[in-house]
Amino acid sequence: MNARPTKGLLVVYTGDGKGKTTAALGVVFRALGRGMKPAVVQFIKGKWKTGERTYAETIPGLVFLTMGRGFTWESEDISRDKRAAQEAWAEARRLMTSGEHEVVVLDELTYVLNYGFVPVDEVMEALAARPSHVHVIITGRSAPEPLVAAAELVTEMRNVRHPFEKGIPAQVGLDF
Ligand code: ATP
Ligand code: MG
Repeated sequence: MNARPTKGLLVVYTGDGKGKTTAALGVVFRALGRGMKPAVVQFIKGKWKTGERTYAETIPGLVFLTMGRGFTWESEDISRDKRAAQEAWAEARRLMTSGEHEVVVLDELTYVLNYGFVPVDEVMEALAARPSHVHVIITGRSAPEPLVAAAELVTEMRNVRHPFEKGIPAQVGLDF
């Protein structure tokens, strides 16, 4: 079944609790089951090659991009990070405006916005100009106010407890 969305929504998953990226990936899973062609752009390259990235490579019709040269927390080269963030944004915008993807996930986009690597205004313009059937899901902590104001759906994950606080390390298959 290929159900073209009648109204593309802007969805924001933010907050300091765990579950933002996994919620977005849950929607991707759901959309794939509807014969859609979702696209995911990850704006932050983590320490590990994640399970989702490994699996995504095996799914036909799924576009899954991770910013090539890492924008990582430990990075010492800010100008390189900025360039990488802007390149990822340029690609994300192409995917979003092409209309070929009914669901587009911009994972951890809020960080590059909050760092000032990509102007919020530019993102707001691109969102407003996208084809009307395209759902866009943006994840990350501290979503900028214009994004929250424009979104039809906003969920804030609130941290109640996290194993990290007890020194329990990230778990394979659950965290990455
Ligand atoms: P996930 O990818 O598991 O859905 P997330 O997208 O909500 O998590 P991010 O803010 O992107 O979380 O953080 C990425 C990493 O930080 C994940 O490995 C996650 O397990 C961990 N993390 C998330 N929330 C917390 C927290 N409250 N305390 C400590 N670590 C956290
Ligand atoms: Mg995340």
